[in-house]
Amino acid sequence: MTTVLPAGSGALHYSVTIYKGQNIRQNSWVSVTAFKRCMQKDLSWSHGVSKSLKTQRYNLSCYPFYASWKPSRTAVNSCLEDGSTKFFDFVVIGSGVAGLRYALEVAKHGSVAVITKAEPHESNTNYAQGGVSAVLCPLDSVENHMRDTIVAGAYLCDEETVRVVCTEGPDRIRELIAMGASFDHGEDGNLHLAREGGHSHHRIVHAADMTGREIERALLEAVVNDPNISMFQHHFAIDLLTSQDGSETVCHGVDTLNTETLEVVRFISKVTLLASGGAGHIYPTTTNPPVATGDGIAMAHRAEAVISNMEFVQFHPTALADDGLPIKPENSRENAFLITEAVRGDGGILYNLAKERFMPLYDEREELAPRDVVARSIDDQLKKRNEKYVLLDISHKPREQILAHFPNIAAECLKYGLDITSQPIPVVPAAHYMCGGVRAGLQGETNVSGLYVAGEVACTGLHGANRLASNSLLEALVFARRAVQPSIDHMSLSSFYVGPSSHWARPVMTSSLRSSVMDDILNVTKQVRKDLQSIMWEYVGIVRSTTRLESAEKKIYELESRWEKFLFQRGWEPTMVVLEACEMRNLFCCAKLVVSSALARHESRGLHYTIDFPHVEESMRLPTIILPCSTVNTTWSSRQLHKQPV
Ligand SMILES: Cc1cc2nc3c(=O)[nH]c(=O)nc-3n(C[C@H](O)[C@H](O)[C@H](O)COP(=O)(O)OP(=O)(O)OC[C@H]3O[C@@H](n4cnc5c(N)ncnc54)[C@H](O)[C@@H]3O)c2cc1C
Repeated sequence: MTTVLPAGSGALHYSVTIYKGQNIRQNSWVSVTAFKRCMQKDLSWSHGVSKSLKTQRYNLSCYPFYASWKPSRTAVNSCLEDGSTKFFDFVVIGSGVAGLRYALEVAKHGSVAVITKAEPHESNTNYAQGGVSAVLCPLDSVENHMRDTIVAGAYLCDEETVRVVCTEGPDRIRELIAMGASFDHGEDGNLHLAREGGHSHHRIVHAADMTGREIERALLEAVVNDPNISMFQHHFAIDLLTSQDGSETVCHGVDTLNTETLEVVRFISKVTLLASGGAGHIYPTTTNPPVATGDGIAMAHRAEAVISNMEFVQFHPTALADDGLPIKPENSRENAFLITEAVRGDGGILYNLAKERFMPLYDEREELAPRDVVARSIDDQLKKRNEKYVLLDISHKPREQILAHFPNIAAECLKYGLDITSQPIPVVPAAHYMCGGVRAGLQGETNVSGLYVAGEVACTGLHGANRLASNSLLEALVFARRAVQPSIDHMSLSSFYVGPSSHWARPVMTSSLRSSVMDDILNVTKQVRKDLQSIMWEYVGIVRSTTRLESAEKKIYELESRWEKFLFQRGWEPTMVVLEACEMRNLFCCAKLVVSSALARHESRGLHYTIDFPHVEESMRLPTIILPCSTVNTTWSSRQLHKQPV
């Protein structure tokens, strides 16, 4: 049942889907709304976060230096330790480009803990191939970059954000170079600028086809050498610690699970930056590494942060199709291997298995059309022809050029018997990038005081309905930097939380459960994860419909209910933690946010394409806003762990 309720100020409308489900669920998943145009005019995207929404809410080892890595250094400066509680001025969740870049700046002003769930380099950043876009060529201009971004974003981008990012981009690249990042240069000695789909000019700074790895290497090296930064690897952030100050929610840090020692470690901070990346693993086929389970978005949603634009999931059109390789990989990959956009930018041509070039049938920009268009075209070919993959051919280009531009792709394909200098590459679309996320203002601020966001976890308004290639590393760099000054200001005005330590129930380990019970729980959770991913792929994929989205909503609800029931029947306690269950909660949360947002958008725009509303609707040119719903009677999964009734 869908009910449209009036919002407190009349400025926002939101619809609430109410389920009368078996015992657990009586409330809505989320409240989805869209800004009224007049409001958008009056308030910038940034103001929308910090002012309006604040009040509305309450109405409702490739790195040699790892050898010397000290996982968690002795406390420094103002960092205090008290058993399993640690105190830092700044806590950064995530060690990708956004988290590391921010940590290096705020470390000049206080103690910093970087918390990361796996090895420090394991992040989407590390896998980025194509590069970072920035206006560095004299023939290019900020206006050109802005126009390309806004066109790719299907006119849903926030213009102020786009201007800020395109203007500040070149300086952020120069800073990276000054920190030791090494990018490719042309014969003239200047940076070599590649061109990718959707860009009107050559503006992609890159390090061959391993740009992200080079950026991550340079930043991690700087972080290792910074005495004010302590790295806590294999620490999984469970839930943000929040309190209520009048109508304001305040963030005081985060509870984590050390997945190596199996201890719960509480971090109390004056400022928290959420830089936990994307949510690719809500789908079965994704280019994202296994760490990308949407933890940050889910944690922020549970902590009452505003979430935006979750229907816009970018599917990369060309991930390597293992099915089409001469030698099949022995084990299925955890993340699909990406064939960068730059292959099409360099002249790569797409064919179906009958060797027919098909892109001209769909778009006059042919292979250089934006990702959503190419992904949908491939999807259409696969469905029409009942084939499993299409072919991307670059073999007509000189061998030396192919090997110089794509050494990583050439080597990966060769491992499986495919020589890309003479054979076409089998490719399929894969979930790649989450355009939506925690709604952020121009300084990375959220509606939760003391909580900032940067990188893929954030929704800054830059990408609108579709991300332009190579704009995400750029966005992460720009926003990580912009969040610094307000964070320092906030830190200097704040003190550590001094309320009773019992304010937040501590998460507990599963040691009271027999090992056979735990095995059952882990096996079932693994299967539930696969089932959720299948639902998302089948019902919430590249081409959507209302009926299929509604089916997805129902199926996800049933799956989540069954999973929770199973856990509690096996003696699970509400505050128990184990990595797999924590990730599962977050995957459920993100999947539901995507489905609810997709159902709320009655048009096709950018990455969201539905056969029921196949056209762009000017009246719908608004971001989707997800307000936190009442925490009463929601599922176990959707509550902060320390707020569970015990
Ligand atoms: C294959 C691939 C190719 C890409 N190519 C490009 C490109 O060429 N150009 C471009 O601009 N963009 C590209 N992107 C996108 C871009 O890489 C990402 O959007 C960007 O790197 C995100 O940076 P981030 O710092 O926000 O997150 P990430 O780099 O993903 O880092 C997130 C960090 O958070 C940690 N984390 C997550 N959850 C938790 C938790 N619960 N507790 C503790 N830690 C946690 C992770 O372990 C990780 O360290 C690509 C992405 C992929 C996957």
